[in-house]
Amino acid sequence: MKTLEKKVVIITGASRGIGAALALRLAADGFKVVVNYAGSAGPAQAVADKVKAAGGEAIVAQADVADPAAVIAMFDAAERAFGGVDVVVNCAGIMKLAKIAECDDTTFDQTVAINLKGTFNVCREAAKRLRNGGRIINLSSSVIGVRLPSYGIYIATKAAVEGLTQVLAQEMRGRGISVNAVAPGPVATELFLDGKSAELIDHMAKMNPLERLGQPDDIAQVVAFLAGPEGGWVNGQTIRANGGMC
Ligand code: NDP
Repeated sequence: MKTLEKKVVIITGASRGIGAALALRLAADGFKVVVNYAGSAGPAQAVADKVKAAGGEAIVAQADVADPAAVIAMFDAAERAFGGVDVVVNCAGIMKLAKIAECDDTTFDQTVAINLKGTFNVCREAAKRLRNGGRIINLSSSVIGVRLPSYGIYIATKAAVEGLTQVLAQEMRGRGISVNAVAPGPVATELFLDGKSAELIDHMAKMNPLERLGQPDDIAQVVAFLAGPEGGWVNGQTIRANGGMC
């Protein structure tokens, strides 16, 4: 384990995918980890158990990030367990693809509620409750830069997240808290792979000059840099971690 003083991180959407990889990585870096999930209790507990098996500390915290009261309760649980919170990573997200002309109200409302309002709910609570010197890291998406048809609502929420990130970084003046976004290209998780043909996955994997899909660990490493002591001078930025796709 590296010589990082034990800080506390809440990772939303940490039951699988990028959030789960990040939980294991930040625990190995010395963080106490709050593994958030909405519905996947078993997988979230498995992530926390893996952290503990490796000698780390973790709790699970159920909260639908779209629900402000649930987000407050999640911070309460983190403070009860670990005495405070230093870092939050907004990984919880959904991606439902539909052309704008064909997008129904439910898809629009759900995507905005989880990706945008959820990130806002967690950022608002973090801005009030993070210990000085903390970090807020939001997951955006590099698909903003490639403007793919059917990604309109998803892209709209992620563009809004980048906007929140820039302004919150300014609003944290005097607290020593940095606020950044990480915008992955396609990463081999359920969110990306579900519903796509092998041909489409292969095509999208080759959109970047490194000619492969990102893996959850590729993104966890970038977030870990921002969350750790060496990333402290990066503030108000979006890091596009996408193999050079755009
Ligand atoms: P996954 O689908 O693999 O995991 C999503 C996670 O979010 C799960 O843990 C899920 O838990 C949780 N979640 C979903 N809705 C909610 C909610 N309302 N409240 C709390 N948790 C919730 O996604 P990825 O790991 O791929 O994506 C993580 C982030 O990275 C997302 O914000 C995504 O937009 C972004 N991203 C992903 C890319 C990719 O190609 N994979 C590319 C660019 C960005 P549960 O099952 O319990 O709901």
